[in-house]
Amino acid sequence: MEIPFLSFDNMHTRIKAEMCSAFEKVYDSHWYIMGNSLNTFEKNYASFCNTDYCCGVANGLDAIIISLKALNIGQGDEVIVPSNTYIATWLAVSYVGAKPIPVEPRADTYNIDPTLIERAITPATKAIIPVHLYGQACEMDQIMPIAQKHNLFVIEDNAQAQGARCKGQITGSFGNINATSFYPGKNLGALGDAGAITTNDKELYNKANVIRNYGSEKKYYNMIKGINSRLDEMQAAFLDVKLKYLNEWNRERNEIATYYNEGLKNVTDIILPVTANECTSVFHIYMIRTKRRDELQEFLRNKGIGSLIHYPVPPHMQEAYKEMDCKKGDFPIAEEIANTCLSLPLYPGLTHAQVDYITDMIASFFR
Ligand SMILES: *Cc1c(COP(=O)(O)O)cnc(C)c1O
Repeated sequence: MEIPFLSFDNMHTRIKAEMCSAFEKVYDSHWYIMGNSLNTFEKNYASFCNTDYCCGVANGLDAIIISLKALNIGQGDEVIVPSNTYIATWLAVSYVGAKPIPVEPRADTYNIDPTLIERAITPATKAIIPVHLYGQACEMDQIMPIAQKHNLFVIEDNAQAQGARCKGQITGSFGNINATSFYPGKNLGALGDAGAITTNDKELYNKANVIRNYGSEKKYYNMIKGINSRLDEMQAAFLDVKLKYLNEWNRERNEIATYYNEGLKNVTDIILPVTANECTSVFHIYMIRTKRRDELQEFLRNKGIGSLIHYPVPPHMQEAYKEMDCKKGDFPIAEEIANTCLSLPLYPGLTHAQVDYITDMIASFFR
């Protein structure tokens, strides 16, 4: 049986007619940047996140960069980031001239450990960027009070967790200003690059709007040195179609994850995903861990099963961050995750028969 790591077959076949009519509507409107489709999607995505405002941007990295710029974070500032994340979180901090300060994750949930945040705070600290990694909400009920106590901004990196919740509150609505990505493979994915910012703060929203469009509110009048990071009409129209299915697709992802857990519960050699108290996951990724990760990945590949490693090298060990002069063992939990993690196929349309095949193969590998 051939099972790719990710397939759009089921999702995109089902909505093809709606997507084509969204395309035609934008095509025939002859208006391709900053128009009605963007306005509509921004309104609908803000409503999905239960925030007052949404500002569409070109991608998830820009969403974090623009959020940092809107908060005036830059040279000389420190920003707390997880040691276990996709590198974009760190790159955004570096790009505005600030310094990423890594904090280790919990070894069970893989999200930033709230109990380790306070010791990383210095007089230069300006903000915390919790990343809701692999689809699971961070423990925002613990992180927000720490930020308040130390007068720090919070920017959620919600690229992987659209629709997840902590204590019933949806991700993307906790921080002062929050970033997300609609990279095609994300739970809500465009047909190209796209991203967004969500906030309840009108002033930050206005600033983000201006920064993404050349620092201009009124055409050809530039208040600040902004950038071009607009979400185009075509992607906004596609996203607006897919947004209607997001809750249903997230439920299906959860159902598949539960089915995996059931199928793998007797395989004692692997560690299964754990969700923190009061937090939910939208299972952007279903990740298991084993010391024999590379062998298992090779075995599955030979059985036709795709898998990926999220991520093989933590940011502090990347060549791009050689100036941090990190040694092996500086952030041991992030390193252990990188050395043992394996993400299995999980997407709407993945059948129980396919999951049965995958879990049977994993069980046979360890037998
Ligand atoms: C995908 C991702 C980003 C970046 O999004 P792009 O749209 O690819 O720029 C940022 N942070 C995390 C955690 C991501 O997974």
